[in-house]
Amino acid sequence: MYAKADMYGLGAGIYPKDKLPPLPVHPHCLCRYVEVIEGEVDMQQQRDQVREAGDKWLNSLPESRRAQVLGRKGLKAWEDGEDWRKYMRGYAGLREAKNRLQMYKPVELSEKAKADKYQSPQGTIKEFQTRKVENATYDIHVSENVNLKPKMLAEVNRQINKCIDLLGVRNKEALPKIVIASNDDLNDALGSYVACENKLYINSETLHRKAYEKYLATLKNPASRNPLMTMLHEMIHWQDARKYVAKFGEITQQDEYMAHIIEKHRSFVDKLVQKRYNFAEISDYASRMYIGGRYDEVMTEYRVKKLLG
Ligand SMILES: [Zn+2]
Repeated sequence: MYAKADMYGLGAGIYPKDKLPPLPVHPHCLCRYVEVIEGEVDMQQQRDQVREAGDKWLNSLPESRRAQVLGRKGLKAWEDGEDWRKYMRGYAGLREAKNRLQMYKPVELSEKAKADKYQSPQGTIKEFQTRKVENATYDIHVSENVNLKPKMLAEVNRQINKCIDLLGVRNKEALPKIVIASNDDLNDALGSYVACENKLYINSETLHRKAYEKYLATLKNPASRNPLMTMLHEMIHWQDARKYVAKFGEITQQDEYMAHIIEKHRSFVDKLVQKRYNFAEISDYASRMYIGGRYDEVMTEYRVKKLLG
């Protein structure tokens, strides 16, 4: 029944995301959910035709099969104009999917691995292999030290999408290569953006939403407590870098770029200082970076606070 009838005008067996049938009827249905969740179908076209589609489907069945599906009493009631949904065997209604059935796209990794290395601000270099997530919407790679679960892939997608919205990103082609790495790969950093490679590292711990939220709740600044804060911080670095590239061409020397971007933000930081702005109010990180003369970092945190705080 579920797979055959076109109840929302979305094509047979396809359901709007919030109206999945309550039971996984057979494996093929699960595939369909995934497609729909991924937006393969124009949701604008959906029409609530549950009853009609069911009627149509019942009409297409031989009488004996109809009696099987509805029961004899049900069949009679349906023939008298009642709604089949009260009688359909195994039909539990199309209820809200929330909290009940969460389907995520499985993670498909490339066969081939590539060597990567991350250099921390402290100078430590960690080497690891990465594999590309073949079925991801964005250019996402994952470290061999991370067991990327479908839910984490969905979370990284959600975060990127949110950041694109918040930052008003129009050109998605220039988005960074995303590398999901372990806490150890990143030497405890939550994230990092490498401008000359247009590469964004994200700590896999930030993709375990529940646990990450728990950790963030211990931080004192509201903007820092938002689970989007790491991705947004790195995406702001990315956006700064893209602006630079548009103006001056590709970034070849990371040092040269850093000097430029620090200088670029200095005057705004100076203005905040004149206004006796307290950087500790943004985050501990921002005040440390102010002391260290990393004005690019201070202003990145300032913008995260503006957008999330
Ligand atoms: Zn930063």
